Formats: sequence, C-alpha cells, structure tokens
Amino acid sequence: MDAATILAELFGPLRFATRDGFARAANLRDVGRLAQSVVRRAGEAGADPCALERIQAAASAFDAAGPSSKEAPTRALLAALGAAVRLPDDLAAVIGGKPPAESAREARPTPGRAPMPNAEAQSVPRAAGQLPPKAAPAREAQTKAPRAASLPLPGMERAHEAGPSTRRKASAPGRRKAPAVEAPEPESIGRSRIPVPAFAAGIDTPVEEVHGVGPQLAASLAKKGISNFAQVLYNLPRAWQDRRRVATIRELAPGAKGLTRGEVLECREIYNPRSRKRMLRVVLGDPTGRLALTFFHYWPSTARRFQQGKRFFAWGEVKLFGGQKQIVHPELEEEEPDAAGAGRIVPVYRGMDELGQGRYRGIVERVLEEALERIPEILPEALRRARGLVGEAEALRALHLPPADANVEALAAGVSPWHRRLAYEEFLLLSIGLALKARGIQVEPGHRFDTSPARVEEALSVLPFKPTGAQRRAIEAIAADMAQPSPMNRLLQGDVGSGKTAVALVACLLAIKDGRQAALMVPTELLAEQHHRGIGKLLEGTGIEIALLATGRGQKALSAARERVASGSARLAIGTHALFSEGSTFRELGLVVIDEQHRFGVEQRADLISKGVRPDVLVMTATPIPRTLALVLHGELGQTVIDELPPGRTPVVTKVVGAKGREKVWTAIEAQLAQGRQAYVVYPLIEESERSDLEDATRGLATLRERFPGRRLDLVHGRMKAEERDVVMSAFRAGEVDLLVSTTVVEVGVDVPNASAMVIEHAERFGLSQLHQLRGRVGRGAAKSFCFLVDHGGEGRSRSRLDVMERTTDGFAIAEADLEIRGPGEFLGTRQAGVTELAFGDLARDARLLEQAREDAFALVRSDPDLSRPEHRLLEKEVFARFATRMSLAQVG
Ligand code: ADP
Ligand code: MG
Repeated sequence: MDAATILAELFGPLRFATRDGFARAANLRDVGRLAQSVVRRAGEAGADPCALERIQAAASAFDAAGPSSKEAPTRALLAALGAAVRLPDDLAAVIGGKPPAESAREARPTPGRAPMPNAEAQSVPRAAGQLPPKAAPAREAQTKAPRAASLPLPGMERAHEAGPSTRRKASAPGRRKAPAVEAPEPESIGRSRIPVPAFAAGIDTPVEEVHGVGPQLAASLAKKGISNFAQVLYNLPRAWQDRRRVATIRELAPGAKGLTRGEVLECREIYNPRSRKRMLRVVLGDPTGRLALTFFHYWPSTARRFQQGKRFFAWGEVKLFGGQKQIVHPELEEEEPDAAGAGRIVPVYRGMDELGQGRYRGIVERVLEEALERIPEILPEALRRARGLVGEAEALRALHLPPADANVEALAAGVSPWHRRLAYEEFLLLSIGLALKARGIQVEPGHRFDTSPARVEEALSVLPFKPTGAQRRAIEAIAADMAQPSPMNRLLQGDVGSGKTAVALVACLLAIKDGRQAALMVPTELLAEQHHRGIGKLLEGTGIEIALLATGRGQKALSAARERVASGSARLAIGTHALFSEGSTFRELGLVVIDEQHRFGVEQRADLISKGVRPDVLVMTATPIPRTLALVLHGELGQTVIDELPPGRTPVVTKVVGAKGREKVWTAIEAQLAQGRQAYVVYPLIEESERSDLEDATRGLATLRERFPGRRLDLVHGRMKAEERDVVMSAFRAGEVDLLVSTTVVEVGVDVPNASAMVIEHAERFGLSQLHQLRGRVGRGAAKSFCFLVDHGGEGRSRSRLDVMERTTDGFAIAEADLEIRGPGEFLGTRQAGVTELAFGDLARDARLLEQAREDAFALVRSDPDLSRPEHRLLEKEVFARFATRMSLAQVG
C-alpha cells in the first residue's frame, strides 16, 4: 500500500469532525492513537518523516483540546495532513475557505512565530460561559493548576430569578441579556483574563518599569493581558514543576509527561522540500541516554539558544519516534550556572513558553519584591483567624514562589493553603453579594400568614396519601417562611416524581385558609390543565374555587376565569404566564408558586410581582442542582430539597445499548405496547439547529411506522405551535397514541402514568441531568418501566458517562457526576445567561469552603448590613466594584 492510501485513512474521521460546523468534533476521540498507526505505516511506505511528525503532533493536540475548542485543532490537523497528501476537495475546502480569524491563526501558523500546538495553543480566548479545555490526565510529573470554572455572578439576569431585584431590572429591558454572554472581542478577553481585584487595581506600575523589560517584551506581555504589576501578581501559575525530582533521560517514560535535564549534543534545522517547511531538531544527552527535542514553530533565536554544551531542563510529553525518545515543543529552561532553579518548585505560566518561562519568572520575582507589600488585606483579621487563612500577600507570594517544603500535590490539586485563601475570598465576596440581595428582598413588607400546626394539619388532610418525611420537612420550612413578616423566597428542589405538587398545594391552602389568594404558575397549558384536573379532584367538597387561566380554552373562558380571580371568588388560580399577563388582576394575592421555573422569563416574573403587595414566592424545580451550584445560582433564596421519593415506586430499569442493539430495543418496546402500555422515542436537539433535530425525529417517525405497523404513532417537536403540541400530548395522555416520537419537548412535567418505556436516541449527546429529566417521564405508574439509551458514540468516554444512568436513579448523584464531567458552564447549558468565570474557586473541589464563606458572609451582613465598619471597608468597596452595575447597595434597607 502506498503512503497516500494509508494517510487517507484519516480523511473519514476528519470529515466527521468538520461536519455541522465542527459540532461533532468533540465526539472524536483517540485521534492520536489512530494517527500513530497511520504515521508508522506511512513512514514504512516512505512518506516524509517531517510531515509525519507534524501529523502526529497535530493529532495529539487535537486529543488534548477541550470539547468546546476542537475546531482549531481539526483545521491544524487537516493542514498537517494536507502537507503530506492531497486532500479531497471537501476537506481541502475546509482549510482553504475563510476560517474565522482565530482558527486561521492556529491552523496555518506563520513559520517561526505561531502558537505552539501544545497545551498553550488551546488557550484561545473563549466566549464567557464556555468551558476551558479539559485538563489532561494528571499522571504527569508537572502538576496542573486548577481550572477556572464558569459561574454566574449574583444579581445577573437569569431566567429563573425571582425577587424584587427582578422588578427593578425589568424596568431596564435592554439589560436583560447580560453582556457576559456575548462573546467579547478577543482583545478584551485577553486583557480581562487576569482577575485583578479592585483593591489591587491601584498597583498599576507599568511592566516596563521592571529592569530588562523593553517596549517589545512589554508589548508581547500586553497581548497576554499583562501590562502592570497587579496583573503580574494575579496571573497565577497554571502549573508547578517539581525540580526537586528531575528524571534521567533513561527514566523518562514514553507516553507520559516528564522533566529531565541534559546537555545540548547537536542542533540542526531539517528542511522538508515537499511541504517547504523547516523544523528544528535538538538532541539533549545525559549519561543515561539521548532525547530529541523537536520544534515545528520556532524563532530564529530559538536555534541560537542551543549551543553545544549548554544545559537545559526540558519538560513535556515523551514519545517514541523511530525508536528514539522525543518531546515535541518541550517547555525549556536553561539550567542556571548556580543551579538556583534546581531543587526548587518552579511555577509555569500560561502562554509564556515562547517568551521563556524562566525569563517571565524573573519578571515575576522582581514584581513580587517591588509590589507585594502594597497589596492590602481585604479579609478582616477575625475571619482569617477563625478560618485559619493566610494573608493575601502571603498567598500570592507562595503561589509564585512556593517554599521548598511546599506540598506539590496540594498545589496541583488547587488545595494548598494559598489557593484556599484566594478561593475563600472569592466565595466570600460572591456570598456577600447574595446576602445583600436576600436582605433586599427581606426588608420589603409581606404578609404574615397564620401557619400554625393546626392549619398545616388541616391543609395536609386534603392529600390522599401520607406525606413523605421529606415532603413534611419542606412544608415545615415553607410554613415557617410564610409566618415571617418578610416575603418568602424559597427554592424547592425535588427530583421528578418526588411529590412537589402536593407540597405546593399545601402551601396554597395555607395562604387560602388565611384569607388570601394563591396562584400556581406552570410553563405549558398542558401542565396547567393537568394540575387543574388533579388539584380540582382533591379540593372537591372543600368549597375552594379554582380558576384555570389558559388561552387554549378560548377567549371567553379565559375572560370568565379572570373575572372570578379579580372578584376574589376564585381562591386558587392555575395557569401559564396568562396568569399575570395584562388583563389579569388578583383581589388579594398572597402566594405565588412557580413550577418548573426555568421556563419562565424575567419579565413574566416581574409582571407577577408588580400585581399588588409583594406576595410570598415559592419556586419549584425538578432539575437537581448540586448544592454548591445551587448556592451560587439561587444563593439569595432559601432552599429546600425533597430527597425522598413517595413509597411504592419501582425504579426505572435503564439500559445503555449501542446502535446495533436497537432491534432488541424495539422488541422490548413491542412487548410493552402489547400489554397496552405506551412509549416515548426521543431525539436530541442537535446544536441549536432545530431543523436537523426535526429531520431526525421525522425520519425516525417514518422508520418506526414501518417497524410498528398497526400501532398509532405521532410526533411532537419544538417547532410546533403550543396548541398543536398540546393536541398531540392530550391524545397521548388519553391513550390514543401508542408511541410518541418527540424531540426533547417532553422534558417538562408531562405525567402519563401509562407510559412505561422510553428510548432516547443519541443519548451520548445529552447531559446526564437532561437524560434523568427525560427518564422521569416514565415510571410514574405502578408498572415496571424501562429506559433505553442508544449510544451512537461507541465505547470510551460517552459509554462510561452513560453508565452512571444505569447505576443510579438518584437525580442529585447524577447531577454531581454531570457537574464533575462537564463543569458548570456546560452543566447549566446555554439557557443560563450571565455566566462568567470563577477565577480561583472550584465548585466541585471547594464545596466546604463555599459553605463556610457563605455562612460568614450572611453573618457579616446580618451584623453590619451596610458594611460600614472600618474592618469591612475594603470588602464593601470590592463588592461594589464587582457587582455595582447589577446590584445597588442603596437598595438595601
Ligand atoms: P413532581 O412534581 O415532584 O415531579 P408530583 O407532585 O407530580 O411529582 O408527584 C408524582 C406522583 O406521586 C403523583 O402521582 C402524586 O400523586 C404521587 N405522590 C406524591 N406524594 C406522595 C406521597 N407522599 N405518597 C404517595 N404518593 C405520592
Ligand atoms: Mg411536577
């Protein structure tokens, strides 16, 4: 076989990766391994070794790139492949076309000064809210710094935010989309990436003041967002190299990252006439062996650095190429004659390889000397002592210059005392913002309800079952809130089927018995009808009148219902946002329950709250959110979790199957249908484009009609009008449809107990939490239910991820796993506007620290609501600086 044919094996995977605007590239894994085999065979077939090395390097860079930043490495790999073999036209068009500026820069670097295709190359500016590239496995000798996590800041607009702040913001509709969700210009990202706190912003001596930093160096630092001393101080290392342990060349293990040192034996440029590109090959040697260092991109000065006999530290991933150990684009540092760097833990900074880590380190050390003492201490002494936290200046110093006895593992994991200090500070500031916001809500006048135990028992008596312990606890928390003079603002989280409706009903009854009206707001007409029917049955004979405010029943019915609400004859109103749209008034609204809140927009909430006195608000969500995330997302709300399912449930049996196992799935579905049960088949939303989503579902419907002749099938999708959708759903509920093919619209609240099976196509494209939501649509009756996850992603990562679904039906466990796997940005999805980055804290890692900071923040605001005590002055300024555009302290009591 000739080399071209062998190399052509890479076309297929690359074509896959480029499809749908690179949307699928993230599903492509182990390209490095594939390339290895291709490169080896192509090499034997006589292909140019330089070109092959490039391909290998580009393939590894592809694997190393985070799931959201695969486009550039895909282009780079295509370019590398294109240098060795003629690309088919479609692939050539991908790199020949006009790629966005960002990718173009990466895909076709100008020789000599392009970003390197190693970890640095992926530090492309990202839109806020996207995840940073996934860290590589941590087995290397060098230790990675913690990643920043994406996070919303308090007070930013969110779709499910309730509270007076919403009303205030609603008057400025232009602000609804927080600017953070729009991709800022790369330039500004670069600059804003260094998280300098406001209290340190005054340390703005330009970097040029450092001896040895000229205009050119200053300019290249500025490109990385570093122009002044404060930015140097807060540009924390991304990793630490433990130079207390340097491997000999013999000890370097291929396939792992390693640090070694050696002497330059040779250095030469190799020219590849075919691709007309050069590479630089350096050989380091020590008494145990030889190590090749390969550079595809380098400065002319790079070559001059490697004079024979000079000694270097080299760090990077060790590979075997042609039987010799080599590192492509190693991190390098000349071994200082006095060996000051040896025996030390040295920091490694993002994006500084080109400049030279050692050189940048020198700058940092001089800035530390100059400026560290000017860093003020923002944390009150008492808090620091109570939580055992080091000072700000000490934390910065130790992160840049770890003491010789520092624990490198702790540094790597981001749990060193210095990390903890900075993370705590960040959490504290965030929590103070939330505490102020909560206080802003609390100082508004609300109604003090009578929620005595007798009243609670009376309300409970309408339920046809005994409440679970968790339901009872939730009711107690709500009753306590309602009894307060300040309005309730509580978030009730409970897994699908945990019985939130019953809790909501009890809350409504408490309000009604105390002479007020209650409103239950749901996202769809379908759910409104469902609740109207269910609650209506329970309230039969109590004399409590219910009004259904839904547009689906015609204008006349709606007007009549509104009339009854306005006059006060109806005590409970159930509906969609029609509840609070223009034309709806309440006589004495006391409580609003918002179900499945994430579907509601900010304005609707504002409408609602402007209807008279500030009502108590209970927000319910069936999307389990890990506690830490909930604390920052809904930090201003009181939170209750229903963590127990009503008795008698049989957990849904879940099976992950490959595409080949589909026929077995259909057989199982057929068996369910034969017993008179119903089933769902769900297709994913593909990358926002509802069109292809719809195509998939439509095609699926056609196929399934053939597979299930004689069964009644129908389709619902997101592009249908709400009424059309409701018609289909009602038919399904009534048992007139056996098999419902849908896009993800079934996710919210649909309750069809006779549906006992669900098939989810392309399960690998869903987040675990979303799969869990979908799965919750079955298993609502007594029958044993099934959920089949069809995994088209094959083995590997998606498989082990989906296995979590087989193992557990606990929504919180799944949410935690999801958060860990995908990080908060993706976990929250694009639904969450206003997502920005946590610079130092990590929700998964620092849960306890967050809880402590939150506790401290709320206590602090309780004791000093204006933050006017001298020891809180810096905190107050900082909170203001961070959140002032979104929240005004003046709003607070
Ligand atoms: P959620 O809204 O939290 O998903 P629902 O309120 O719809 O859950 O309740 C799911 C089902 O469980 C309903 O059919 C409801 O009647 C039933 N249920 C709720 N609480 C209990 C309980 N304590 N004991 C028995 N069944 C319950
Ligand atoms: Mg519900």
